[in-house]
Amino acid sequence: MRYDAVIAGGSIAGLLCARELARRGHSVLVLEKGHEIGTPEHCGGLVSRSGLDELDIGPSSRHVRGRIHRAALYSPNGGSFEIDSGPCDIVEVDRRELDKQAARQAHDAGAHIRTRSEFKRFGGRVAKTSFGDIECDILVDATGVTSLIMKKMRSGVLVSAQSEVSADWIKEGCVEVHLDAVKYPGFFAWSIASEDGRGKVGVAGAEINASQALHDLLESRGRYSETRRINAPIWVGGCAAKLVDGMTVTVGDAAGQSKPTTAGGIFSCGMGGIMAGAAISDYLESGDKAALESYPRSWNAKFGAEFTRQLAARRLLARLDNGTIDELVGAVTPKIASEISKDGTFDFHVSSIVKMLGAYGTMRLARRLPMSDIARLMTGVGKV
Ligand SMILES: Cc1cc2nc3c(=O)[nH]c(=O)nc-3n(C[C@H](O)[C@H](O)[C@H](O)COP(=O)(O)OP(=O)(O)OC[C@H]3O[C@@H](n4cnc5c(N)ncnc54)[C@H](O)[C@@H]3O)c2cc1C
Repeated sequence: MRYDAVIAGGSIAGLLCARELARRGHSVLVLEKGHEIGTPEHCGGLVSRSGLDELDIGPSSRHVRGRIHRAALYSPNGGSFEIDSGPCDIVEVDRRELDKQAARQAHDAGAHIRTRSEFKRFGGRVAKTSFGDIECDILVDATGVTSLIMKKMRSGVLVSAQSEVSADWIKEGCVEVHLDAVKYPGFFAWSIASEDGRGKVGVAGAEINASQALHDLLESRGRYSETRRINAPIWVGGCAAKLVDGMTVTVGDAAGQSKPTTAGGIFSCGMGGIMAGAAISDYLESGDKAALESYPRSWNAKFGAEFTRQLAARRLLARLDNGTIDELVGAVTPKIASEISKDGTFDFHVSSIVKMLGAYGTMRLARRLPMSDIARLMTGVGKV
């Protein structure tokens, strides 16, 4: 068996990489170790419509479940502010169905996808798999956060737990974010409505018992029933792995391409897959290895400065104690919340964080946090 490229991992990054390669006329095999594309689903499913358009996987009634109208941010003492997320045009998608749609597109373009097929290792242009050896020019690692963990890159990994629940306190079109430096250090808890009375509730943080923290959160909210629960690592360390290493190209969460602020990766990981596919195609056509380097270049041109700023925002937020979070949320007036609503974009949202911190006051902030991180957040100067 021989393919131009073998892709390990049949989720959003791997499948869109496969689609790009197949559309450009190359032979490509996707290996998914799970029994079904899209499972186990470990995602809140929040994504912007513009992101879906750019991924060319456009919003469809098959995978879009609902539109998100408002987002509320809570501090530990119960203080809150709400923003109108209408201008960001965010939808909640059925992630299983979205991945299946990407798989259908890749197949229609000519890619071959196998489930229950595990990638083992790559060397000498041979991919070792659970069903034998496959010759290929390029191996694409799209195996998700586990790839970073296997490479002992654990500093950007947080543990998360998420439940699908029915509860009348979940309001249609609403996303909630709960900050608490003690319960969810380095991250937050969230709820995402799929419809009125149903949605996903999750928590993540550094070195927490995520299952217990999620249980405590759910118990504190009132009556609920759980239909599904998952535990999964998330990556908030920014672009981490070498994107091109010899004949191996790394995409998606395996490359640290999810957003450092929220760990959202459907858009940015999917774009990583598409950009990698374009560069691999150029290499396969020209035989010039330098062509592969256009992938990290395109990635940095699109996401580099934003990811640097998001990383700085993440570091700053992770240093805040609960008292400061209470003050910060309390400082956001309805006028500032309305400004945040107007100019925020879901995929490039650092300007909204800057507005929120600005409400608190840069000088007050500087008394508590390192000036270098504040400067990096404002300017985006620094390496991803
Ligand atoms: C709780 C939670 C909530 C999230 N919510 C959101 C959200 O609301 N919006 C958003 O944009 N992002 C969200 N994310 C992040 C998003 O799910 C990821 O960024 C995205 O799925 C990364 O896609 P990927 O293709 O890089 O990797 P993954 O989706 O992790 O897929 C990797 C695939 O590789 C397969 N695989 C692994 N090893 C092998 C192997 N050896 N051989 C073959 N196959 C293998 C796995 O089975 C898997 O299918 C969330 C993540 C979590 C954990």
